[in-house]
Amino acid sequence: MSAARAFLSLGSNLGDKQQYLRDAIFELSSDVTVLGVSRLYETAPVGGVVQDDFLNVVIEIDTVLSPLELLDRCQALESQANRVRLVRFGPRTLDVDILLYGDSAIDSERLTIPHPRMFERKFVLQPLSDLAPELVPEELLLAALGDVVAIGML
Ligand code: AMP
Repeated sequence: MSAARAFLSLGSNLGDKQQYLRDAIFELSSDVTVLGVSRLYETAPVGGVVQDDFLNVVIEIDTVLSPLELLDRCQALESQANRVRLVRFGPRTLDVDILLYGDSAIDSERLTIPHPRMFERKFVLQPLSDLAPELVPEELLLAALGDVVAIGML
């Protein structure tokens, strides 16, 4: 299978957030080629649950994993980070979503690509536009929800 360029969103809002993100990227780099990491963003939670701010990044990868294999890998990373999830949209040590996988459009039981909520979330669109501004129309970025502040690099 030839390699595909994909974008993943990583977020954490529990414990040593920055370390969870670093560890996840380090772990992933044994299976995929990490081409780029966005700036690090501090973002207010969306979804109505009262919880700590998130740290978010988007990474660009080259991978020979299929979309479902990549999802398995992302979910294994979440479990490995001892993700505790008591409330939907609530606090989590690590959340990894597949945003885009090449030009693929997928709508299956386990996987929807492009990620169904990515275009309304500023914590996704802003870091994605660091890496691939051509994929993020200005008007979508302006209309997206949430407060995000770049706080440096991971
Ligand atoms: P969450 O961790 O709350 O973002 O949601 C995880 C669930 O979303 C899992 O059951 C996945 O199978 C499903 N899912 C659907 N599309 C995606 C995607 N593009 N990236 C990650 N998870 C996805």
